[in-house]
Amino acid sequence: MTHLFTSRQALPVVLTACLLYSPFITDVSDALCDLLPANYLSFPVGLNTGLSEAEYNQVLDEVDATFGSEVANHGGKLMIGRRQWDKPEVNAHAFRKGHRWHIEVDGGTARFPSMTMDGLRLVVCHELGHHLGGYPQYDDNTKMSIEGQADYYATLKCMRKLFSGDDNVAAVSRMTVHPLVREKCEMQFTTDQTRALCIRNAMASEVLAIVLHESTHEHTLKPSFETPVARVVSSIFEGHSNSQCRLDTFFNGSLCGVDANEDMNSAQPEPGTCSEERGDVHGVRPRCWYKPLKPTSHRIIAALR
Ligand SMILES: [Zn+2]
Repeated sequence: MTHLFTSRQALPVVLTACLLYSPFITDVSDALCDLLPANYLSFPVGLNTGLSEAEYNQVLDEVDATFGSEVANHGGKLMIGRRQWDKPEVNAHAFRKGHRWHIEVDGGTARFPSMTMDGLRLVVCHELGHHLGGYPQYDDNTKMSIEGQADYYATLKCMRKLFSGDDNVAAVSRMTVHPLVREKCEMQFTTDQTRALCIRNAMASEVLAIVLHESTHEHTLKPSFETPVARVVSSIFEGHSNSQCRLDTFFNGSLCGVDANEDMNSAQPEPGTCSEERGDVHGVRPRCWYKPLKPTSHRIIAALR
């Protein structure tokens, strides 16, 4: 695939994913969380790749309609950026200005050649996850969830709510589904609709994971459901993990059987999630970025093998 690149000079090294939004901070809640690290990709208007402007706007409208009242219930006002289509960059952003909770998706993300509607929904859901994803959050009073948790929230809550009114069996029937995805979703869920929702979620995850892999120019194999990360972190990693770890997180969120309407909690890992802390084995936050609060029992370690 041919990418267009902007100049290579002077892009800052980003060690953490959420940065203070302004050098003139007056409110500790002002922070900026991105979809992926600073990159050099550029897909300007006129390329006619990926999604159309109408499709891009449709996804943003869906999220606005589905989550406006939920954000209000949490004390915020959801502000979805409407003037970002012309931006050529591949990235998306979540930030807060006072009680206004912003989400912006640069147009180049939608014009990424392999982007799909569901892939873009997952992008927006990741950004929403910074606002609504709960524990673990950045240790800086922003009350915004860290990168891995935003990914986990995206498939466990946000995508399911977006897909709740759809005929997901019909949607999945038009997809080429990885056999491992079908096997695990059928193992975790019992009805045709919930299995299909799991599969649709997982396949959107693969689309976005490959976009992330190509955007960040990782010198690794493409992310795959067959090659989850074996590395285990010794403490919670707050930044952007590699695309394989992010696929693992998206997939585990898809596989967790907890109801989408059960909220996550800002102080505890268990509410609304599958968690090792509670003894869950499937659908938990992966260890490639997450370290459980309490020592894992021998029973769980044995089951994970
Ligand atoms: Zn992010």
